[in-house]
Amino acid sequence: MKIAIVGGGIGGAALGQSLLRKGFDVTIYEQAEAFGEVGAGVQMTPNAVKAIKGMGLYERFLDKAFYPEAVVGRNWQSARENFRIPLGEEFRNHYEAPFIHVHRADLLDLFTDQIPPERCRFGYHCSGVEPRGKGAVVHFTDGESAEADLVIGADGVRSVVRGSLFAETEVRWTGHMCYRALVPTGGVVDFVNPDSTFWMGPNGHVVTYYVKGGDMVNIVAVREAEEWVAESWSTRSTKEALLADFEGWHSSLQTLFSKVDEVYSWGLFDRDPMQSWVKGRVALLGDACHPMLPFLSQGAAMAIEDALVLSDALAASPNDIDLALKRYEQERLPRCSRVQLEARERGRTYHLPTEEEMAARDAEYARRAKEDPRTTGINTDWVYDYDPRAFGTAQTQPRAGAVGASA
Ligand SMILES: Cc1cc2nc3c(=O)[nH]c(=O)nc-3n(C[C@H](O)[C@H](O)[C@H](O)COP(=O)(O)OP(=O)(O)OC[C@H]3O[C@@H](n4cnc5c(N)ncnc54)[C@H](O)[C@@H]3O)c2cc1C
Repeated sequence: MKIAIVGGGIGGAALGQSLLRKGFDVTIYEQAEAFGEVGAGVQMTPNAVKAIKGMGLYERFLDKAFYPEAVVGRNWQSARENFRIPLGEEFRNHYEAPFIHVHRADLLDLFTDQIPPERCRFGYHCSGVEPRGKGAVVHFTDGESAEADLVIGADGVRSVVRGSLFAETEVRWTGHMCYRALVPTGGVVDFVNPDSTFWMGPNGHVVTYYVKGGDMVNIVAVREAEEWVAESWSTRSTKEALLADFEGWHSSLQTLFSKVDEVYSWGLFDRDPMQSWVKGRVALLGDACHPMLPFLSQGAAMAIEDALVLSDALAASPNDIDLALKRYEQERLPRCSRVQLEARERGRTYHLPTEEEMAARDAEYARRAKEDPRTTGINTDWVYDYDPRAFGTAQTQPRAGAVGASA
């Protein structure tokens, strides 16, 4: 079986290496001249770490990891702690995996390091995909094309693969933009704790956490905005704009922002959940099928889970691609749709505009914290509990009478 993956971001690369480890014939077509990620951090929650374990990459991943001590919610002005989810041993034992912070480039390297160069075609910009016989053809803007038995569109939120075969819905402006920056710690920013900290304020929130083994602080500072005027969805911004947009927020944040050198601003877009991710021998993965707001820290996590499940589904029925794609979609679409919609909802609860609404929300956090600190605050038990490795285990032991079950 020949498999073509369009897009070599975190999702495409995770899938590529996972399929190669299972012995499939895979080629990745990436529009850029090399694999690359934006200079920022990413939070890997236990569900994503379980997928990385399932890919056999856990030990190498830990080399690059930073372990936060807790997820902490703070008031934007007073820094008062509203909730605290300890991420220590009890948390790790409960979810069978830790919560980890990592630089994006290190995460991408984890996957691409395992992919031989002859499996990667750089500078290939896909212009469309067309079904052909029992497979599909990928067309590129330079006139070349590539035929495969299976094509996976892992080409991000503005996916061309999706646009060429699936009923198109517009990319949705979510009403949010964010600033992203990294600040070297060098012992200077000792007021940022080794936590994943959510500073929640009126019409915005800020997330700070360490990456690069604690050498850098990653900043994501989200504001509501009427519209996104920039031509690209990521543009260079300035420290002054960042400071001005968060005027009046706690002095720790002001001090941190004053140390920013390079800062980028991003328009945040998503789409509604899809009805289907599969058309014949073409399937979608990652942001191409479930782009979401980053408020649950799940976009890359979902793409990595997709990659493990899809490669397990194909390994379980290598002679029946249609069945494998059906199982993949059945397993993944409902979960990712729920996460997409819940991430939208978080935009509302994190950004309540008045003091009264914020006080009521924070009282609710305090109530939940008394019941169970693990499920308080961002309340993500259902997200972290999921174990994508269980899908592979179930596929190798098909239930009696399952339609098309392969031995
Ligand atoms: C501010 C912010 C913070 C975030 N924080 C987190 C977090 O903490 N945890 C988390 O799990 N997620 C987070 N995310 C989400 C995460 O970044 C994305 O969901 C994830 O990167 C999606 O990966 P992907 O491979 O599906 O798509 P992408 O990363 O967009 O990769 C798509 C790839 O396809 C290539 N491509 C595109 N079009 C073509 C074409 N026509 N032909 C060939 N190649 C093409 C691109 O060059 C790119 O390499 C965050 C997102 C944002 C914006």
